[in-house]
Amino acid sequence: MKDGVTIGFIGLGIMGKPMSKNLLKAGYTLVVYDVVKAAVDEVVAAGATAGSSSADVASKADIVITMLPNSPHVKEVVLGAGGVIEGVKKETIVVDMSSIAPLAAQEVAAELAKKSVKMLDAPVSGGEPKAVDGTLAIMVGGPEDVFEKVKPILLKMGASAVLCGDVGAGNVTKLANQIIVALNIAAMSEALTLAQKAGVDPGKVFDAIKGGLAGSTVLNAKAPMVLNGNYKPGFRIELHIKDLQNALDTAHDIGVPVPLSAGVMEIMQALKVEGKQTDDHGGIIQFYEKLAGVKVRSELT
Ligand code: NAD
Repeated sequence: MKDGVTIGFIGLGIMGKPMSKNLLKAGYTLVVYDVVKAAVDEVVAAGATAGSSSADVASKADIVITMLPNSPHVKEVVLGAGGVIEGVKKETIVVDMSSIAPLAAQEVAAELAKKSVKMLDAPVSGGEPKAVDGTLAIMVGGPEDVFEKVKPILLKMGASAVLCGDVGAGNVTKLANQIIVALNIAAMSEALTLAQKAGVDPGKVFDAIKGGLAGSTVLNAKAPMVLNGNYKPGFRIELHIKDLQNALDTAHDIGVPVPLSAGVMEIMQALKVEGKQTDDHGGIIQFYEKLAGVKVRSELT
C-alpha cells in the first residue's frame, strides 16, 4: 500500500473515534463522516477532514472503513442513497469493521463487486480500551491479496489481524468470539453470586482463581468492575443482544443448536425489560443478584 493513502472513515462512535485517531497518529490522511456532528468535529480537531456524506467520503478515499452498529446501518451507509457505492472508484477497497451478520457482509460485498469494488469484513474484539491503545484483535474475511494490501493499516488499529476465510468469515469468527465472551460473563456472574451468598468474599475468590484454569481475559476485565457495582459501558448489553441475535440466526440457518447462547440471550432480554440495556455487559450479574437476593461486592478490587 502506497504512502500518502487517503482513508475514508464512516461511523465515529465509541470504537470508530479512537480507531480513526490512531490512523491520524500513524500519518494517514483521513476524510470522515458520521450522522452525529459532534463526533465528526472531534475527529476533525484531531486532524481529519469532514466529508458531507458517505458517498462524498468514498469519492475522496483509496480505502473506506465503516464502523457502524449493525447490518441495516452498514447496508444503508454502503448501498443506500448517498452511500459509499455512489462515490467509490473501482480501485477503492471497502473494509467494514462493524460486527454484523455474516450473510449481510456477503450481500454488501456482492453489490460492491458489481462495480468491481473489493470488500473485506474485519470486525474487532477488545472494546474501547484496546481501540484507544491500537491493540484490537481483528478477524478478517475476504481475498488474500486485498487483505495483504490493507493489513498495514489494520495493524495501526490492532495488535493482530488474522485472515479467517472469504468475505463473511470475519463476522463468523466474531460471532464465535461473542458467544465465548457472553457465556464467560454469565459463568463468572453465577460463580461470584454463589460465593457472595455462601459468605466468601468474591474479591478473594477472584484473586484465588484468576491464575488457575478458570482465569481468563474476560474474568480479569469484568470481575473488578462488577465487584465495584460499576456497569458503565464499555460494551453495552444492547450491542451484545444484537450479536447474540446474529449468532442465533446464523446458527439456526445452518443447523447448529446453540442452547447456552440462547440462555444468555434470555438473561440479557430480562435485563432489557428492566431498562438496563445500556449497561456494560458485565451488568449480567444483576440478573443473578436478583435471583439470589444478594449484591455481589468486594472491598478488595
Ligand atoms: P456506537 O453506537 O458508539 O457507534 C456507531 C456510530 O455509527 C455512531 O457514532 C453513529 O452515529 C454512527 N452511525 C449510525 N448510523 C450512521 C449512518 N447512517 N451514517 C453515518 N454514521 C452512522 O457503536 P460502537 O460501540 O462504536 O460499535 C461499533 C461496532 O463495533 C458495532 O458493530 C459493535 O458491535 C462493534 N464493537 C463494539 C465494541 C465496544 O466495546 N463498543 C467492541 C467490539 C466491537
